[in-house]
Amino acid sequence: MNHGEHGVHGGQTQGGLGFAKSPKARGSPTRKVRALPAIKIRCLLPSVLSVSSGGGRFPFEDKMLRRLSFLFCGLMVCACIQAQLPADEPLRGWKTVEGQAFEAAIVSFDGTTVTFRVRNGQRSPLPLARLSPDDQMYLDEWQKKQPLKIVLPDVVGGDPASLQPEVLSEDERNEKFVYRTGHFEFESQGKFTQSLLREVARNFEATYELLKALPWGIEPAPASGEYFRARLLRTRSVYEAEGGPKNSGGVYLGREKVFLVPFESIGLKTVGKSYAKDDDFDTSTLVHELTHQMMHFWLNYLPQWVVEGTAEYTGILPLKTGRFRVSAAKTGLRDYLEHLQRAGGVPAPYPLEELFPMTNEKWNEILTSNRTMSHRLYFTSYLLVYYFMHLDGDGDGQLFVRYFRAVGAVRKEVEEYDKAVDEFKKQPGVEVLPDGRYRGPGGLKHPDRPAILKSETAPDEFQRKTLQILLNGRTEAELTKQIRAAYAKLGIRL
Ligand SMILES: [Zn+2]
Repeated sequence: MNHGEHGVHGGQTQGGLGFAKSPKARGSPTRKVRALPAIKIRCLLPSVLSVSSGGGRFPFEDKMLRRLSFLFCGLMVCACIQAQLPADEPLRGWKTVEGQAFEAAIVSFDGTTVTFRVRNGQRSPLPLARLSPDDQMYLDEWQKKQPLKIVLPDVVGGDPASLQPEVLSEDERNEKFVYRTGHFEFESQGKFTQSLLREVARNFEATYELLKALPWGIEPAPASGEYFRARLLRTRSVYEAEGGPKNSGGVYLGREKVFLVPFESIGLKTVGKSYAKDDDFDTSTLVHELTHQMMHFWLNYLPQWVVEGTAEYTGILPLKTGRFRVSAAKTGLRDYLEHLQRAGGVPAPYPLEELFPMTNEKWNEILTSNRTMSHRLYFTSYLLVYYFMHLDGDGDGQLFVRYFRAVGAVRKEVEEYDKAVDEFKKQPGVEVLPDGRYRGPGGLKHPDRPAILKSETAPDEFQRKTLQILLNGRTEAELTKQIRAAYAKLGIRL
């Protein structure tokens, strides 16, 4: 399993950077370095958010369509933040929603329930909603200041119960071989040997477990149906015909909820009538695309640098025999940089002042037109995610986890709103029009629209606001300086 190869696919014919052969790549001495850094492109997603718009007789039927990409975050409360109590929280005066006053110190607050310690030392829990609005606000602010206790997993592998791959069908004539593991159903254009099937299965399942275990709050679930779906394609031409972009090593198609990877990106060879691992077998492309798939319900809420940076991050983590060594992330970083060095040089970081506000349109334009710039974008995205995970502040990923929680809170709010709208549409008298809009009788209470969906500018505002969590009072220039200094400490000059 090689991660030094990350970001490389087999498009030898496309030349370009003239990557040197690597005589001694890690893990596999005979491994060939393939010629072209992959630009792993996630296709632009059509909205995974349903369109709920209206136009008609009632005030809730306004014409605002759901917008893709960045959504606004009004409230940074998250039910899942378990703030840790610093040494001695002082006694303070509080008021209940009915105006009853009492004195107590905060012991803990999980976003919905606060545990107090009163003067005699006794502890007592109280739902947040029972407190006065001012005190609720105070708790929100208090919670934001508390350090989160973040525990990174050490080693993550697939659950043994999910690992036994099942052969669903093998149709030689139509080149259709279907396999299934605990969470995945994947189709291959070639028959897999037992050992290849086992290897692919354990990498799939390990990536699923990894995204569950990382502190980003992803909770991966198939976008539709019971299984995550993948298609492994025998040739590059089939891959491109099925929607794989040129220059890419793999793609996650958000609309179809499936990811496609050509055999050449993994490194397979034929053994008789079957396919097996070749010397340059490399699952980093699989892990990258799988990461997009696990994050399906988040993609519209995250800027491209986070989407690609997280997928690069997982793809570069050391992975061996179906187990990620998260605690050895630094080894992955070093191997990756070494690989880049051998392959023609480490790209120059992209200026953060331009990267942070970059629109998806601009990002995709660069991908299709400028390979050098594309490498810089992907590389910088990775550097940023690694930095926020391991080097910023105390090196425990505080701000990055807070960032994900803030995004997650809004994501959840929209999800709940969507559910409420679906329920609303089922009520008697509500008419769903052919274009998806709907109208209902007056007096019927429409679900409250989340702030993020209330205006055209809300998504951009959301992006700016969540970015502030990461900047944490720093300008882009100051952050750049700190990033360079942190990597320099590891002996990495950027
Ligand atoms: Zn990608």
